[in-house]
Amino acid sequence: MTTSGVERAEGVVADAYDVVVVGGGAGGLSAALILGRVRRSVLVVDAGEPRNAPAAHMQGYPSRDGMPPAEFLAVVREEVAGYGGEVRRDTVTEVVPDGAGEFDVVLAGGGRVHARRVVVATGLVDVLPDLPGVAERWGREVLHCPYCHGWEVRDQRIGVLYREEVGVHQALLFGQLSSEVTLFLDGSELPGEQRELLEAAGVRASVDGKLAELVVTDDRLTGVRLADGEVREVEAFVVPPRMVPRDGVLTALGVRTHETPAGTFPEVDATGMTSFPGVWAVGNAIGAAEQVVNAASAGYRAGVAVNTALLQDDLAARPVPARS
Ligand SMILES: Cc1cc2nc3c(=O)[nH]c(=O)nc-3n(C[C@H](O)[C@H](O)[C@H](O)COP(=O)(O)OP(=O)(O)OC[C@H]3O[C@@H](n4cnc5c(N)ncnc54)[C@H](O)[C@@H]3O)c2cc1C
Repeated sequence: MTTSGVERAEGVVADAYDVVVVGGGAGGLSAALILGRVRRSVLVVDAGEPRNAPAAHMQGYPSRDGMPPAEFLAVVREEVAGYGGEVRRDTVTEVVPDGAGEFDVVLAGGGRVHARRVVVATGLVDVLPDLPGVAERWGREVLHCPYCHGWEVRDQRIGVLYREEVGVHQALLFGQLSSEVTLFLDGSELPGEQRELLEAAGVRASVDGKLAELVVTDDRLTGVRLADGEVREVEAFVVPPRMVPRDGVLTALGVRTHETPAGTFPEVDATGMTSFPGVWAVGNAIGAAEQVVNAASAGYRAGVAVNTALLQDDLAARPVPARS
């Protein structure tokens, strides 16, 4: 179903595919896998920076619990290739509607490819709190998600950075895993009702002072230094990143967005279809809560919906045989 070297008004397009998938994490590769299995020509363009890259292990994916994230993606890339799907290391800078319901996809590395449909699976960016040491230890001992890393730090001394309710929520969740959770207020006031909630849940302490930096000894997080010089021992430190979707190609198309507890994200229907006809979006690009298994599941669903839409087009384009 691939047409190569399609002549278009703007000039010669190098390649044409049924579907171009923008982003080759769990969401994008899963869509490509299912599209390849029904013989759709599919290209995955991937910039190669999956969100969980800083973590040594991926947890909570049934049958792959504990697998290194890079290994997981390498396996799926091979599976995609096994059905004829292509994965190309590049960055999509723009998805341009061609005026006929299809798209030209512009690549940073030069050139463009044509797509009948587009699936955007570009993930999100974690904007970390501006505290020295946090970015360096992110995905190691600096954590955000009890489901991703909580078990691994159970019973350890866990510090939690207070940033309004989200800090309290994280302290309560990590309090399920350790009795040694300390909330660091970093100069903020802890409202009375939040303090009561924490006390009731057994979160034993909060520290009032402003923070200066994380303390690392022999390549291990060992503490949090307060602005007055005092060091509190911790082995893990929980922060609330601000999660910003990598949705540039979608916003340029003017897709509808909506407000979520984590901020503004592109809006999609149950299959991942955006408000722009022919464009689907899945994974962290459309929701902060999507874990690897959710992104993969959404990619599968979008792949099925995209194939159904293509099938309808194929049938509509076919001449109806005359009845004798
Ligand atoms: C430190 C950390 C640890 C985590 N651990 C776990 C865990 O143990 N278990 C779990 O289930 N979840 C975990 N997560 C969450 C997990 O990373 C996400 O759920 C998952 O990566 C979402 O998959 P995705 O396909 O939506 O996006 P991603 O995996 O982020 O993939 C998006 C891909 O798109 C590429 N891309 C972006 N823009 C473009 C563009 N314009 N052109 C081409 N390519 C582009 C990116 O480079 C990237 O390769 C963790 C997150 C973090 C931050």
